[in-house]
Amino acid sequence: MTEETKNATHFGEDVFGDEAIRTYLSKDTAKKLQATIQEGKPLDPSIAGEVAHGIRHWAMDRGATHYTHWFLPMTGSTAEKHDSFLEIKDGEPIMLFSGKNLIVGEPDASSFPSGGIRSTFEARGYTAWDPTSPAFIKRHSNGATLCIPTAFCAYTGEALDKKTPLLRSMQALDKSLTRLMKLFGRPEAHTGCTLGAEQEYFLIDKEYWKKRPDLVLTGRTLFGAPSAKGQQLEDHYFGTIPDRVLSFMNDVERELWKLGIPAKTRHNEVAPAQFELAPQFEELNLASDHNMLVMDTLRNVAEKHGFKCLLHEKPYAGVNGSGKHNNWSVNYGGKNLLDPGTDPDENALFLTVLCAIIEAVDKHADLLRASVAGAGNDHRLGANEAPPAVISIYLGDQLAEVIDRLEKGEGGKTKKAGTLKIGVDTLPALPKDATDRNRTSPFAFTGNKFEFRAPGSSVCCSGPMTVLNTIVAEAVDRIAGELEKAKVAGKAKPGEHTPAFHNALQKILQDSLKAHKRVVFNGNGYEAEWPLEAERRGLPNAPDTPSALTALTKKENAKLFEKYGVMTARELESRHEIFLEEYAKKVRIEGACARDIASEMILPAVKGEYLETIQAFAKAESVGVSSGTSALRESAVEIGTGLDALKTGIKKLDEALSAATPSAEAEILSAMQALRTTVDALEKRVSETRWPLPKYRDMLFLY
Ligand code: ADP
Ligand code: MG
Repeated sequence: MTEETKNATHFGEDVFGDEAIRTYLSKDTAKKLQATIQEGKPLDPSIAGEVAHGIRHWAMDRGATHYTHWFLPMTGSTAEKHDSFLEIKDGEPIMLFSGKNLIVGEPDASSFPSGGIRSTFEARGYTAWDPTSPAFIKRHSNGATLCIPTAFCAYTGEALDKKTPLLRSMQALDKSLTRLMKLFGRPEAHTGCTLGAEQEYFLIDKEYWKKRPDLVLTGRTLFGAPSAKGQQLEDHYFGTIPDRVLSFMNDVERELWKLGIPAKTRHNEVAPAQFELAPQFEELNLASDHNMLVMDTLRNVAEKHGFKCLLHEKPYAGVNGSGKHNNWSVNYGGKNLLDPGTDPDENALFLTVLCAIIEAVDKHADLLRASVAGAGNDHRLGANEAPPAVISIYLGDQLAEVIDRLEKGEGGKTKKAGTLKIGVDTLPALPKDATDRNRTSPFAFTGNKFEFRAPGSSVCCSGPMTVLNTIVAEAVDRIAGELEKAKVAGKAKPGEHTPAFHNALQKILQDSLKAHKRVVFNGNGYEAEWPLEAERRGLPNAPDTPSALTALTKKENAKLFEKYGVMTARELESRHEIFLEEYAKKVRIEGACARDIASEMILPAVKGEYLETIQAFAKAESVGVSSGTSALRESAVEIGTGLDALKTGIKKLDEALSAATPSAEAEILSAMQALRTTVDALEKRVSETRWPLPKYRDMLFLY
């Protein structure tokens, strides 16, 4: 890093990265640690002590007195339990941090959801250092803590977190790709996955937020009539960023840069008060950890600026919700496999990986859908700004044509007009600019990567990325197996494959495309026609979380995860249980919150308005004034009717909340919706001074 960059950004200052390793560790130990990090090798236990010692000194030089193993439990947030370096030895206080402290932790973590894997009285969970994600310093107003990214497992080795399966899925993909690359005559190397996670969020003035129990307890507004102006004028997207928001963004970026997170892009999003932060892409596991820190930082810094940062997928009805586009790519030995390259051999490899991805997404659309399921995202997927709940692939016109020609081409025979022959034809240059992008697709090819747009703004990237890696590992593995069976690879070198190799590959890819091209859809995903067309194509369409999560109960899916060593059947089962329970709890919290707001805040306000109106009416009549009485009567009837509907709506919601039937959540949601319709209509009839909740027009505009 140049001095100039360092001074301007303080980049990586709070990360135990290359520079800190060189400064705080001996040359030998530094080398061993670097190898562990770069090659993902297990840590040499003989150096753990020195590494721990070095990390402690580095952390203490930055004001840290405590350390914590930082992990990603199944709650979807991050977890930390701090211990101080302070120990009393022979009556003397000293600062200590051992190799064991660094490598394993035993948090008494019995209260984290485990989906039956570990009951509270059984063995405790343990955290294990993940050296591929560097330790970092978390600062607070009067101190700092050393954070060590870890995986969290039960003593049986079963995963209790979101990081472990991600790391395993990367290994699975590496194994499959290594098998394929050998057939392509490429030297053995390491598979890398990359992720750039675009983060959307809303800001709201903290004062308004405090007055909205729904935002405080559930993250979204359960009531609120639309503001006269919303996003109709499309004047917010990429608009001038208000000064106070910009200074918030600046602070966020400064914090992120210190943590070595390459925050790159910032802009206004489509909905008023909605914004986006995009980092430059990084290695997948690191990028996934970093996104968790991005969300933390957004929330923390917002406080200092008098804002609250809303990461919920749909904080406001009627305007866009927030997503987290996962830009994903895979490389081998550093070479991006989703970059078509320039010669026929590179093209052949690109097309193979592309076909594998198409095959994977078609075969396992249900798992991808399940990986983005959640109570919040249900309000977004399928609504008209977000990708639909049907998982399909967008390739762009040019690549779609390439695939078409490849599928039609007949290997072995002479090239027909309009067909494409692997190993012979060169692909046209594919556009990488944003103009060719289709924003309605949940899974889009964007020049040299895929953009998975279905993940919601609050999701932990590791879930969807674990599924993507695993299903692609399976497809690559299958194609490699077919190629091996064809016995055509021989001693081929890159660029020197025999026609037999190319013919066999062509046949394999054609068969794959024939079976799976139905998942490719280049049209407009928002059109009402698409779900019908998707149904004709046999593509699954799970409209809500419970139906999406059934994918995790299918035997063939358990087999898939087990075969590729990503999750055991029990681990998968536990996740299904955890996610379903989380969904049910969230819906119930929302239901109870809506009921309480309606009965404790809205009902009294409406009663007050009603009373005032009928009193005015009675008074006018009693003094013999007739003008105004028809308006007062009309208002009284309107408010009175609303009042009746309100009482009924609250009762119905209360009943739905006390039902314990399996479909209770659906009933709660529909009772909430009905109640909302009533309340939102009343908002337009009750005087502003009496209305107990800040309105959309107040909350959505920040100046
Ligand atoms: P857009 O909003 O048009 O999708 P952005 O520039 O906001 O584009 O975001 C694109 C994201 O994709 C960035 O985070 C970028 O770093 C990331 N990206 C670019 N190339 C790759 C790649 N090879 N692998 C993963 N992510 C990538
Ligand atoms: Mg994008």
